[in-house]
Amino acid sequence: MEEKNGHIAVIGCRKCGKCNNVCPQGALYKVDGIVRVDYSRCTFCMECIRVCPNKALIYME
Ligand code: SF4
Ligand code: SF4
Repeated sequence: MEEKNGHIAVIGCRKCGKCNNVCPQGALYKVDGIVRVDYSRCTFCMECIRVCPNKALIYME
């Protein structure tokens, strides 16, 4: 698999949990209800970014 590097900023998460449900890598976890990314698992497939209803996840290179 092609390796990607980057970062997913979390700004304005409303704790709905939708992103956690779609991540195929189980790379999302929560700290005090706010989403964090485990970069040892994330493949930057962008699915979490696509489903977030609040546009709280932002991919940054
Ligand atoms: S989908 Fe968006 S608002 Fe919902 S928990 Fe994930 S980052 Fe937060
Ligand atoms: S980009 Fe893909 S692999 Fe990474 S946290 Fe989001 S859904 Fe999971």
